[in-house]
This record gives sequence, C-alpha cells and structure tokens, in this order.
Amino acid sequence: MNEAQIRQAIERKREGHELDHDLWQALIVAYMDGVVDDAQMAALCMASLWRGLSETETFALTDAIVHSGASVRFSDSIRVVDKHSSGGVSDIVSLVAVPLAAACGAKVAKLSGRALGHTGGTIDKLETIRGFDVALSLDRFVAQVEKIGCAISAQSAEIVPADKRLYHLRDHTGTVPSMGLIAASIVSKKIAGGAHGIVFDVKTGVGGFMRTVDEAAQLGRSMVDIARRFGRSATALITDMNEPLGTCIGTGIEIAEACELLRGERSEDRAVDLVLDIVCAMLRVSELPVSRDRVLATLRSGDAYTMFCSMVEAQGGIASSLGLLHVPRSGGSVVTAVDDGFVNAIDVVRLGNLGRMLATSNPMHGIVMHVRIGSYCHAGAPLFTHYGNAEALGDLASIVSVASTPIQPHALIAKTID
Ligand code: URA
Repeated sequence: MNEAQIRQAIERKREGHELDHDLWQALIVAYMDGVVDDAQMAALCMASLWRGLSETETFALTDAIVHSGASVRFSDSIRVVDKHSSGGVSDIVSLVAVPLAAACGAKVAKLSGRALGHTGGTIDKLETIRGFDVALSLDRFVAQVEKIGCAISAQSAEIVPADKRLYHLRDHTGTVPSMGLIAASIVSKKIAGGAHGIVFDVKTGVGGFMRTVDEAAQLGRSMVDIARRFGRSATALITDMNEPLGTCIGTGIEIAEACELLRGERSEDRAVDLVLDIVCAMLRVSELPVSRDRVLATLRSGDAYTMFCSMVEAQGGIASSLGLLHVPRSGGSVVTAVDDGFVNAIDVVRLGNLGRMLATSNPMHGIVMHVRIGSYCHAGAPLFTHYGNAEALGDLASIVSVASTPIQPHALIAKTID
C-alpha cells in the first residue's frame, strides 16, 4: 500500500463508506509491516468507531486479524468448544464450566485473558495455583485437550498479533468501545484458537463493558454471526453483571470459591445456575446430548472436580493443595450497613478494583460478599468482608446502596442468541 491509498482508505471510512474485504486485509498487513503507522491506524479506528462497521466489514477485519498470526488446529476426529466471557467481577464461570463440560464429554480448549480494567482474569486466578503453567505451547495445548479433555491457557504471542497491537492502540486512543472493533477483536482470538463451537457470555449492567441489555445483545448477535461465517457453531448468552456473580472477588480467593462449587459444596447459588446454563450451551455447540439435570448430577458426583485436578496436574500444578482451599469465613474487616433497607445497587466497578488491589499482596486477600441485590439488611449488618488492608480507601459502605423499597431483581440470563 502506498501513502495515497492509506489516506484514501481513512477518508472513505471517515465519510461513512464501507471498505471492502481486500482493503481491510491490506491495511492490517501494512500495519503489521510498519507501512501504516499508529497515527493512521488510530484515525481509522476512530472513524470506524463513529461511522460503525458493517457486518461485512467486521467479518473482513476479523479475518485479517486471524491471518496476522498462527492458528490452532485440532484433529478432525474431535469437536472442540471454547467459551468466552466479555469480562466480569467474581466471574468464576470458566474455572467451573471448563472441567464440568469436559466431565460431560466435551473437548474444551479455552484460551483466556488477564484482568482488564475492573474485571478479573482467569489466567491471573489460575496462576495462584502453585506450579500451574498458564503459558502452554500451541502443541501442548492441543495435546492436552485431546488427551484429558480440557486445557486453559493464556493466548500465546503467535496468535492474532495484530489484535495485541490494535488493542493497545485502541486503549491509548479512546477507541475501545466500538461494537465492530470489539467483535472483531474477540472473535478473531476464538477463531484462531481453533474451536469448532464457541459460547459467548456477554455481561451487561453496571459491571459489564456493555451497560444495557440491548447493547450486549447487539454485540452477541454480531459475534455469533461472524463466528458462523467462519463455519463455527456459536451461541451468546447475555448475562447480568449488576452485582458480582459469585461471593469472592480477588484471584486465589476465587479459585477457592470455584473449588467449593466443583466439590458440590454449594447448590442454591447464582454462579452454579449460570455455570449449568453455560455448560448446556457448550454441549449444544459440541453437538452432544444436553440435559441440565445430567450436568448438575455430574457436578454433584465430583467428576468435574476430578477433571479440574487432572487439568491442574497436566499443567504442572499441585492439585493436592486444592482440597484444603476454602472461602475464608472468619477474620478480615467487616463493612456494615449504615441504614436499614433493601440492597438496590452495588458499585461493581469499585468492588472489582478493590478486589484486584487487595489480591496483589496475597492471593487469598480480596473480598467476600454477604449481600446480593434485593437482600434486606439492618443497620450494622455485614455487607462484605475485606481481607487485606483497604482502610485507606474511604467510605467502603457506600459501595452498597440500600433503599426502603426493593428493586425488581435483574434476570441472570437476559437473552440467549443462537
Ligand atoms: N475484549 C477483547 O478481547 N477485545 C475488546 O476489544 C474488548 C474486550
């Protein structure tokens, strides 16, 4: 590409025209070769954010990003599934759903990310298990999925290098919140990850990157459509993030909570409910029989916990230490309610940031929640307990708002797109 062609492409996007498949391909190749510079790519991202990307353009950009690096290939004799969360707080779904789906017969190849903004990262959590290797080579990743049924690894540098550069650039230029750019970024990673089926968990609410159900549904629809254009089966669940999903917020403390779920020690639980629905969706895109009762029975049987331990051992971790892990139920500093009332809002972003900050000094530090949206509490009742020093952080009780009348609870799953 020459300078005139690059400028013309930026101007066409600025004027709201569609760029064709070959042009997106050429722009990404030129960006990776240093022919398109960061200023030009930032201008193109800003024009794309304001003008929007059509479905065809989003597909073209996704394809160009996928081709910027290596792709994982599984044997044609197996069907592999991956799941993606758009990022939440106390989002322990992957830690439980991956081994549970594998225990139900699925082959699960999960490429995960690190914490982003206030949201937690599965890789940061798994890294707290002594010895656990989060950076499997692509060959080891494939071999482990084929042999034991599941693996969770950080995305390797060989996969979608263009996304890495683009994401960094977008983060610096205020161009992250574009539906098309987000969809291309997420779907490209999943396509290069090699799975035949993909389940997207798109969080919505105050703690999600998509604030409204409509926005989240639009992103979910777009990701499902693009994945299908690549010949993959896909489904998206639009799920609530107006409050933390589980009760623990941090890193190692979330592994402890996930282990309790996997050992079948918790039943009436929002996190368990979502895990069951996500696993059913994973089985569906894997073309396996789906029965929520059977999935619950597998969780209760301990098979999912055994599978989790096998995965930990296969990745070099010490599984024997997991049996001793429990959510802390004493000690810590309790934050209490100032007034009587119903919990009607929780500042999930503050909680997420606080949990991440506390966990940096000790993986078992973080937050344990005692209330949910809709809970009634008396003045002086515990709202949450923090482990680690958070005293300097001001009025922690204001993270949870109470009112004299309850609000309508948010549905755990607002929509399913398939
Ligand atoms: N997560 C991603 O992987 N990419 C985005 O652009 C936003 C969230």
